[in-house]
Order: sequence, then structure tokens, then C-alpha cells
Amino acid sequence: MAFKADPGSKTTGLALVAEFPRGRQVVWAANLVHRGQRIKAAMTYRRMFRRARRGRHCRYRPALFDNRTRKAGWLPPSLMSRVNNVSTWYSRLLKRAPISQAQVETVRFDTQAMQDPEISGVQYQQGTLAGYEVREYLLDKWRRQCAYCDGTDVPLEIDHIHPRSRGGSDRISNLTLACTSCNQAKGNQSVEAFLAHDLQRLARIKAQAKEPLKDAAAVNATRYAIGEALKRFGLPVSFWSGGRTKFNRTTQGYTKDHWIDAACVGEEGVAVKIPHGFRPLTVQATGRGRRRVRGNDQYGFPRGEPRAQKRVSGFQTGDLAELKCLAGKSAGTHVGRIKSIRSRGWFVLDRHDRPAQEFRLFQRADGYAYTAATA
Ligand SMILES: [Zn+2]
Repeated sequence: MAFKADPGSKTTGLALVAEFPRGRQVVWAANLVHRGQRIKAAMTYRRMFRRARRGRHCRYRPALFDNRTRKAGWLPPSLMSRVNNVSTWYSRLLKRAPISQAQVETVRFDTQAMQDPEISGVQYQQGTLAGYEVREYLLDKWRRQCAYCDGTDVPLEIDHIHPRSRGGSDRISNLTLACTSCNQAKGNQSVEAFLAHDLQRLARIKAQAKEPLKDAAAVNATRYAIGEALKRFGLPVSFWSGGRTKFNRTTQGYTKDHWIDAACVGEEGVAVKIPHGFRPLTVQATGRGRRRVRGNDQYGFPRGEPRAQKRVSGFQTGDLAELKCLAGKSAGTHVGRIKSIRSRGWFVLDRHDRPAQEFRLFQRADGYAYTAATA
């Protein structure tokens, strides 16, 4: 059984694919939603209070000697949380499934297969694996915008700078990206004729076409760190490209979703069956509470008493619980995550502030919230 992952900045697709006598099949899948943005916001918030304190109390204190270094491989906390989320789920699944290997999409296009793509002459061919790798490469090289009008967020087509009808080749150094209208306007014209009114752009395109993309541009630090983190569990881990994933998904006619991309990662991803009506799990990283023991008011001054304990009557903030309230304006049954635990034994769920006795624990907070996807 293979663990497959397609790491993304907001959501990572995860899938377990098993070998059956009749072929490969997805047996478990999830969209893991990260909380990078919330971590970043929290750090900015904390920084704001620290800066304000310096302004109030230590304005004349000289800056400390800057002798602090970061370990090799350090990532900002918001990015590190993505790495940790994926490796947490890998370790959880390892305990429950006979996983023998991991396959991770780490690069957008295959640098190995495209070593010096400009020189070795990997050619573009629509609908082939090489074609998909080339397309991803071009998206990076031309910064996902139309070379002729700088349009972004429009469907981009591959354009032969020196048209094929005039003997232009399919080599990468002759390819660029153009939006549909620019591509049609250019037609069979030579690029010199098409850009006669904008010689600056012509010179820029010609120069950039010759310039091979730097290797570093293809390697995403977070994805690479995820691959390295999975290696530490001791099972074989293989790294694959996004071009291949897209090729595998498109040839099998699957729609785009993170978990489907995950299932299509790697060489084996070219033939993976998704059972009819299969629904992935949505896993939202929620965090495990916070370390600070005391809140602050809007000016950053400490407010209230320091938090005495994290658990009260067996409950903790984030636990999934049922609240059964017999009377009053909260009357009824409510199910959800406990928003806040108070040491005096009253908890908040949704907008209801009720005593501990009325709560029943469904599931302990484990840093993630779960929803089954609906059809
Ligand atoms: Zn355009």
C-alpha cells in the first residue's frame, strides 16, 4: 500500500492506494486543510504587542547583539506547520494501514527528466507526459502570464515564438505562453512582424526565451521539507513532479481535487481506480490550544487571571461535545466544538454559555476537525 501526498499551500491532498488483484484502488483519502494563514496572523499579532512594549518601556535600551542564527532547513512557523501536519498524518496512518512506501509530489516539473531542457531538446507534444512537464516548466519560466499582453489569470496557450508554419521548432527555447486573443492575433505572423510596434517587448521575449530557468525556481522549500520529514519514518519515499500528476489525472479523466491529485502522484498514478461514490475526508488543522496563560485587552495589557489549568472537568477547548440544555434560551441539543473552557466550570459552545454537567464528550481535541465531504 502506498501513501501519496500532493502538498499545497492551503490544502494538501492525501491518499492511500492499495494493490488489488484487479488493479490499484484508492482506499482512503483526505483533503488536509492547513492553518498557515492563522499562524502567520497570530505571530503578527504577538509581534505588534512586543513592538508596542518596546516603545513604552524599553525605548532607550540598545538593540541586542545580533548573534542568533537559524538552523539549516529552518522554515517559518506557518510553513513548518504544513510539514508537521503531513508528517502527523503519515505517522497516524502508518499505525493503522500496511503502508510500504510514500510518494510525494515535490516539484512542479521534473528537473531530472528535463536536465538542461533547453539544451537536451525535450520537445513539446500536446497530451504526452513530456508535454505536461514542458507546460509546467513554461508556466514557471514565463511567470504564468501572457508574453504579449502580460495578462494573468486567463487560460494560457503554448505559443511558438517562431511559428511552426514558418519552420519554428517544438524546442522549449522556441515556446512561450500567450492568452487566446493574443495567440489568435499573432496567428502565422513572425514574432518580429507581430511586435513591430513594441520592439522593447520583442527584445525581452527573445532574451527570456534563450534563458534557461534556474533549477532553484522549481524546488519548493516546503514540499521538499515534507519529503524529508517522511523519510525519517524509515520507509522508502519517492519524489514526483506536478507535470506527471496532471498528466495522470487528465488521461484518466478525473476532475481536479487535492485528494485526486494525491492519488495520481507518481508513475503508478497513471492507473488508479477511484471507487464509485467515494467521498474523501476533510481534515482541518485547528491547532492544540495556545501556550499563553493570560489574555490581554485591546491595548496589550494583561487582563484577567492567569489560566490555572488546561482541562476542566475532563474537558478542553476544542473538544467535540454535545450540549443538552433543558430550559432557558439555550434549550435544546447542540453539537460542536467547545469554544472556551472556564475554570469555574462553565463552557461556551456556539453562543451558549452553560455548566459542565450539561456537556457530553464526543471526541477529544486532537488538533484537527473532521467533516465528511457531501456529494
Ligand atoms: Zn495576451
